[in-house]
Amino acid sequence: MASGPPHVLIIGAGTGGLCLAHGLRRAGISVAVYERYRTRGEGLLGYRVGIGPTGSKALRECLPPELFDVYLATCARSPRYFNVITQRLRRTASFTLRPDTDPVETERSVARMTLRQVLLTGMEDVVHFDKTFTRYEQRDDGTVTAHFADGSTATGDLLVAADGTHSAVRRQYLPHAVVRDAGTINIATRVPLTPHTRQLLPERVEKGISLIFGAGGIMGVLHVMEFKWDRDGEIKPDVADADADLLRHWPGRRHDNTRDNINFIIWSTARRFPADVMQRRGEDLVQVARDLTRHWHPNLRELLARSDPGSALPIRVATSEPVPPWKASTVTLLGDAIHTMTPGRGVGANTALRDAALLCRQLRRATAGDKTLLQAVADYEAAMVPYGFARVADSLHRSGTSGDDRMYKPVVGRLALLGARGYFGVTSRVPRLARKFVNDFYTYRGEED
Ligand SMILES: Cc1cc2nc3c(=O)[nH]c(=O)nc-3n(C[C@H](O)[C@H](O)[C@H](O)COP(=O)(O)OP(=O)(O)OC[C@H]3O[C@@H](n4cnc5c(N)ncnc54)[C@H](O)[C@@H]3O)c2cc1C
Repeated sequence: MASGPPHVLIIGAGTGGLCLAHGLRRAGISVAVYERYRTRGEGLLGYRVGIGPTGSKALRECLPPELFDVYLATCARSPRYFNVITQRLRRTASFTLRPDTDPVETERSVARMTLRQVLLTGMEDVVHFDKTFTRYEQRDDGTVTAHFADGSTATGDLLVAADGTHSAVRRQYLPHAVVRDAGTINIATRVPLTPHTRQLLPERVEKGISLIFGAGGIMGVLHVMEFKWDRDGEIKPDVADADADLLRHWPGRRHDNTRDNINFIIWSTARRFPADVMQRRGEDLVQVARDLTRHWHPNLRELLARSDPGSALPIRVATSEPVPPWKASTVTLLGDAIHTMTPGRGVGANTALRDAALLCRQLRRATAGDKTLLQAVADYEAAMVPYGFARVADSLHRSGTSGDDRMYKPVVGRLALLGARGYFGVTSRVPRLARKFVNDFYTYRGEED
């Protein structure tokens, strides 16, 4: 290992990799990021990601303060309610969420493409696109060399796998680590938000996050994503001066074509989908979602009919198996590359951000001479593995994200559905339980362990 300040190679310019890169650069640690996408706009990144206090705290710790303010300004209007509804648009439960006045202690709705553009801001000299990592070599002099598909290489003192669920780094480093199919499939779509599509939603649904517990084991979620810019990309007239100013001067706006929309995701056990669903796209895929929701309320069906076929995306939900401890070295991992979790708790990105902030703190201490680089990696992994896999475990059994969930069984499924609706109904009506539910919604993100 190097005795001077380390040079860190990060594979993957996703949520966790870019957050780490910012943190390292702010700390004066040399860093380079290698991303397989050819450009900053490539990839189907349309759907929403919820960033809670854990993720926002990590971003605040790693990003330059002015870029953290841009992140806040680019979030969609925060949800005011968490609703549970039926497929007939009947309300089972509705919880009032916190106002979004605090920069971190709130639930933020973020568009993936917008977040990516925020995180790429000012990183032009750090991020190398069109670099598909293929393998690495750990050398006797303590350095590590990454090889890319175009024949080029890069050498540093530490290689960080931030290359997501199908991580090529993990396949080489921890070949025994298993990511398995969780048994559920999502179809994610975006519906342009217009006066017509808006009025199809009850007021609390329009202003909130709404989980649809449908009969017959078909689930859904609706997020209304309203940004501070209009469909021409111009700042809306009611936006506060400070945010308008930040957005006008943010160069990332040129690369982001995210517009107001309703994120509509349908999911169920994989058994309910056609065998070739993962190959389907566009109208063909939207039709699968429409067939599954034949008995849903006409307004929900109308939303699906108006969804942008180009945005429709099938997602096979995956989950990591726990990995036995390994010896720390010049290769480490963060985010989905080590602990892929189902979207059941909405904490995958939050946990990737938490990893990035933690690893950054450890590397700063190594650079300051408080510990060796190897010890910093070992201390990071000793903390990350337990909380990361705890999130994997409790995400799997939430909201029917496992294909084995009782919800999807023929007869038991009906009882499970009634049980889940009953739980939410009672919890929302008893003030003490409702308060606890809302507090857990924010504090869950993993800070407690
Ligand atoms: C439907 C759905 C909803 C979700 N909702 C939420 C939510 O509300 N809240 C939440 O916290 N999480 C959510 N998640 C989880 C979240 O999206 C992920 O956990 C998070 O994006 C992981 O970040 P990451 O940095 O580890 O990986 P990613 O963001 O996936 O980044 C990996 C990067 O590595 C690149 N890459 C891959 N292979 C290579 C290679 N060989 N060479 C070079 N580059 C490579 C990829 O192109 C990509 O840019 C959701 C997930 C799904 C599927």
